[in-house]
Amino acid sequence: MGASVAAKYEEPRAHAVRERYLDTFGGEGLPVPVEAIAEDLLGLRIEERWGLDCSGMLLPAERRIVLNAEEGAPGQDDPPFRRFRFTIAHEIGHWVCHCLEGRAPNPEPSYCRPIDLTDAADRTLEREANVFAAELLMPEPAVREAWSELGDVAACAARFDVSPTAMQWRLYAFELVEERPA
Ligand SMILES: [Zn+2]
Repeated sequence: MGASVAAKYEEPRAHAVRERYLDTFGGEGLPVPVEAIAEDLLGLRIEERWGLDCSGMLLPAERRIVLNAEEGAPGQDDPPFRRFRFTIAHEIGHWVCHCLEGRAPNPEPSYCRPIDLTDAADRTLEREANVFAAELLMPEPAVREAWSELGDVAACAARFDVSPTAMQWRLYAFELVEERPA
């Protein structure tokens, strides 16, 4: 059972991108520099916009990621910049997996709600982008090491600069915690 749960969370393309960034630019690796991966490695521009009816968009023809500025406002459940980081990682997933880094013919824009879609099995592309985001931000060996050292969801989330919800999903996938995120 453990193997089957882990298998659906494998995404070698996420590791390839992260390693390509670290080989090119160096740095610590954690928290994963997701903005720099998007901008410096992949040549995507990131901007915030008010009034979006989704969490984020990828506009492949413009090489642009657009974030919903309202989700960066104070008072959200998750620390706002951590939510942005997951959305950026999700849009990178679309770019790498579905737009082939700009080489796909006529790639369509993506309109995304990554957090809501964490458990949505019916939308394959969205699910794939979420798996990519989780793998990019929270590499399995580092997560297992952090969990054995810290043993606390919030502390692990802080180390990876992700939301506690995203970290809980990751730990649940590895069967390190029993509770699904609420
Ligand atoms: Zn998406």
